[in-house]
Amino acid sequence: MIRLNDIKLPLNHPDDALGKAVIARLGVPESDLLSYTVFKRSYDARKKHAIQLIYIVDVCLPAEQEGKLLSRGLSPSPNMEYAFVAQVSDFPKPDQQRPIVVGFGPCGILAALILAQMGLKPIVLDRGQDVRQRTQDTWGLWRKRKLNTESNVQYGEGGAGTFSDGKLYSQVKDKRFLGRKVMTEFVKAGAPEEILMVSKPHIGTFKLVKMVENIRAEIIRLGGEIRFDSKVVAFHREATADGNGQVSGVTLSSGETLHSKHIILAIGHSARDTFATLRDQGVYMEAKPFSIGFRIEHPEGRPSFWKNSPIVP
Ligand SMILES: Cc1cc2nc3c(=O)[nH]c(=O)nc-3n(C[C@H](O)[C@H](O)[C@H](O)COP(=O)(O)OP(=O)(O)OC[C@H]3O[C@@H](n4cnc5c(N)ncnc54)[C@H](O)[C@@H]3O)c2cc1C
Repeated sequence: MIRLNDIKLPLNHPDDALGKAVIARLGVPESDLLSYTVFKRSYDARKKHAIQLIYIVDVCLPAEQEGKLLSRGLSPSPNMEYAFVAQVSDFPKPDQQRPIVVGFGPCGILAALILAQMGLKPIVLDRGQDVRQRTQDTWGLWRKRKLNTESNVQYGEGGAGTFSDGKLYSQVKDKRFLGRKVMTEFVKAGAPEEILMVSKPHIGTFKLVKMVENIRAEIIRLGGEIRFDSKVVAFHREATADGNGQVSGVTLSSGETLHSKHIILAIGHSARDTFATLRDQGVYMEAKPFSIGFRIEHPEGRPSFWKNSPIVP
C-alpha cells in the first residue's frame, strides 16, 4: 500500500472526487486503483468561504505498479496492525493462570478484551452493575435523588464517562498506532466508522452504551467471564524467593476469594475506599501530577457586550 498525504478537496465534494484525486496524484490508469482507505480527514478552515478537507489516504495498487511508485520515492503505508505481547500458547497452564481484571471502565474493558483475544479468558470484576441497570440507578439519583453507592455515574459497566457524549482523543500521530487498535475495536462494536479517520472523533452517548455491551459479549464469546456487583475489598500477596512478594488473589465483598498471579487494577479515579485498602495493605502509590480542566460555553456569534469593545474577536 502507498500512503498519500495532503490531498485537498472542497468541503462538499462529490463522493467520487477523492478516488479521482488519488488517480490524478499518482498518474496511474483508473483500472490500477484497486482500493483506498482514508487514514485521516481534517479541515482547513482558514478561508471562511473556501473550507477544504485534507485527506491522508492509503492506496492499494497492483504489486508491480506499487513497486514502481515506491522506487520513485513515494512512501509505503506503515504497518498499523496491533501486535499482541503474548499468546495463550506462551503459558504452560493457561486455565490455572486466568488473569483477573478489576474494574470495567475503558481501561478494564480494553485490558479484558485484549487478554480475551490472546486466549487467556480473563475474569472481570466490577463493583457496579451492567450498563442498563446502571443507567436506571444513575437516573434514580438525577431524577429521584436516590443514590446507589455502588451503581452510579462513577461505578459500573462502562466506567466514569459512560453517560458523557464519548469524545475521544484520536492519537492519530501515535507512531505505534496503539490508539488505532482501540478505535478499531470500538468500530467493530458499533461505533461510527468515521472515528477511525476524523481528527476529533466522537461516539455519542446512545451508541456508547450499545458498544460497551457488544464488547462485553465479545469478551464472553472468547471465554472471558464478567461479574458485576463484585467489589474487591482485599488483595493477597505471597512471599517469593527474591523477597519482593507477588500478588496471589483478591477477596470480594461477598467473602469469596479468587486466586491469580495476574491482576490488573483498572479502578479509575473514584474508588477512594479501594485506594485506602491498597494503602493499608502497604501498596506503593504515587499521586498524579496536578491537572485541571475547564469548559466554557457561549452562544454562537458575537455577544452584544463586544459591540463597543476595543478587542474585536
Ligand atoms: C462525567 C464525566 C464525563 C466524561 N467524559 C469524557 C469524554 O467525553 N471523553 C473522555 O475521553 N473522557 C471522559 N471522561 C473521563 C473518562 O471517563 C475517564 O478518563 C475514564 O473513565 C477512566 O477510565 P478507567 O477505566 O481508568 O476508570 P473508570 O472509568 O473510573 O472505571 C473504573 C471501574 O472500576 C470499578 N471499580 C472501582 N473500584 C472497584 C473495586 N474495588 N472492585 C471492583 N470494581 C471497582 C468501577 O465500578 C468502575 O466501573 C469523563 C468523566 C466523567 C466523570
